[in-house]
Amino acid sequence: MPHSQAELELLSFNTGGILSAIRQSAFPNLTAEVSHLYCVRPTLASISKINPERYVISLHSILNTHKTPEYVIRHILIHELIHIEIPPRDLIPGEDDPRLKEKRRGKRDCPPLGPISHPPEFWERESGLSPERESAMGWIIEQLWSFIKLDSQAERIEVKPNWRSWVWEGSKTRKMLKSISR
Ligand SMILES: [Zn+2]
Repeated sequence: MPHSQAELELLSFNTGGILSAIRQSAFPNLTAEVSHLYCVRPTLASISKINPERYVISLHSILNTHKTPEYVIRHILIHELIHIEIPPRDLIPGEDDPRLKEKRRGKRDCPPLGPISHPPEFWERESGLSPERESAMGWIIEQLWSFIKLDSQAERIEVKPNWRSWVWEGSKTRKMLKSISR
């Protein structure tokens, strides 16, 4: 899928400001340049390494609305920054693969999935750095459930092609509220 154009931000806060505040408080030793953009991508959010000194965090356009709470974006940015600190690694021999369902674990016919992006130490670091994790994931699941798909083997949250209808319903609600308050 081609990388779509970066969009003008429509949020009620400044994403770049949140990103620098997080860097100062939680990642003071991070020297790489990290920028962000909202665009249409297959996943809700991701981080790409351009070179060892430059990263780009891509946030899906579905989040580019004034309805997205600041704590959701803060949590996602923390999550993506941890990927710089804790890069994907191979499983240790004998280690359970958390990407597989209980009954598939340890079975021989199951082809290895390759390096893991979210090993247990990743989630440990995340829960230490992001006290808003539960509320943020709660909001994502509650608000975006019909428009996302959790792919646990690929370790990602995909955004379905119908995502634009969420934005449309939102604007319809705004119109209704406007007519009521008149
Ligand atoms: Zn991740």
